[in-house]
Amino acid sequence: MFTKIRNGLTLRYSIVMMLLMMAFIVVSSTGLLWILYREEQQDLRSFTEEEAREQAAMYKEKAAFFQFASKEAENVDTEGKIFYYVFGTNGQQAAAAEPAREIRIGVLTIIRNWDAQDGEAELKKFRLPNGDRAVVMLCSMKIYDGPQELGTVFVGEDISSYYHMLKMLLIMMVVISILFLVIAAFAGHLLAGRAIIPIQQAFSRQREFVADASHELRTPLSILLTSVDAVQTDDDQKLSPFSTQVLDDMKNEIRRMTKIVTDLLTLARADAGATNIIREKFDLAIVAEQVLRSLQPQAVVKGITLEMAGDATIPILADRERINQLLLILVDNAIKYTPAGGRVGVLLTTAAAPKPCVMITVHDTGVGIPETQRKLIFERFYRVDKARSREEGGTGLGLSIAKWIVDVHGGKIKVESAPGGGSSFVVTLPV
Ligand code: ADP
Repeated sequence: MFTKIRNGLTLRYSIVMMLLMMAFIVVSSTGLLWILYREEQQDLRSFTEEEAREQAAMYKEKAAFFQFASKEAENVDTEGKIFYYVFGTNGQQAAAAEPAREIRIGVLTIIRNWDAQDGEAELKKFRLPNGDRAVVMLCSMKIYDGPQELGTVFVGEDISSYYHMLKMLLIMMVVISILFLVIAAFAGHLLAGRAIIPIQQAFSRQREFVADASHELRTPLSILLTSVDAVQTDDDQKLSPFSTQVLDDMKNEIRRMTKIVTDLLTLARADAGATNIIREKFDLAIVAEQVLRSLQPQAVVKGITLEMAGDATIPILADRERINQLLLILVDNAIKYTPAGGRVGVLLTTAAAPKPCVMITVHDTGVGIPETQRKLIFERFYRVDKARSREEGGTGLGLSIAKWIVDVHGGKIKVESAPGGGSSFVVTLPV
């Protein structure tokens, strides 16, 4: 139980950490990208404005745009990463300081297909022939001489290296976050372990108390029961009908208390892992028959038909006493919560797939269990209808013990039911 709590705490802690780290990565990287993008956009726009002005001045002076000599252009390629293309109003390329050779074709294709607004700056990505991704920032601006339009200049900057750097940074941040997450999960596990120590101690003290108290109560209760019996069987006493009734009621209450105390002791020992499970090979069908025989008088009093079906012999390796107790709890409950005239049945079957197992189904035509309560009934002292359970002599511990027995045998218990339409408790036990 505590391992489950510890793991649950660690998991929650790790999920919170992971969400925080993810939020940090997303916020910081988008923030960083946005700032860089805006800066770059502004820089390029002012470069382009300047270039447009220079080209206009050059055109006025020489009736041609300024063209870098190819040697100069090569220098521009390698040193700075800024390049430009000037197109005349007829759409012909009039001048250029070209970008690095490998991205030239890509840039030109983008420029030719780009329906850019005057002064617009945008990030453009494309694949190079070698499969790498190239990223350029492009800005387009019209060149004017007074009111006369001379052409358009496209200024661009190759920012692939920044882009790759940012990508690497992001990958690094993710890797570091994962590393931190692993460390945080480990630390969380350690801390959760420390945090539950006091709870563990309190729980074990309480468990010991319950076990000791139940153990100590058993003897006085059995003395009380024998004393009441002795008073009732003493011939010298002339008991009035009222006194007899009082003594009968006392005996019923003592039996109820004894049952609660025994059930509590069973669960306290189960919690402490102090109950030995002695596995032996036996025939489940014989044990089920015995249980039905022992509960037959109770069923007859209530006018309920008990029936058994399924395989004639079911060999199983389990704790015979505990399986007997499990069947007693389930069939006793079925009788308790089924009105007169109803039917209670036990069906024993085996299944080979997915794993070889034995299935015990205890079904009744009783009051049924509402869907919302079906899981809760396996909790200690949980009763759907307290008054009815008390009236029937229930303690609210039967199904908790049944679940524990199934669990220690590595099996599963589930309930199928419809209010008013009866219930079926299905136990699956590995063979
Ligand atoms: P109890 O001693 O009250 O029967 P259990 O732990 O055995 O305690 O059962 C818990 C509750 O589950 C019961 O109080 C009852 O409301 C419900 N329950 C158990 N078995 C049946 C059944 N066969 N039909 C209807 N309700 C059931």
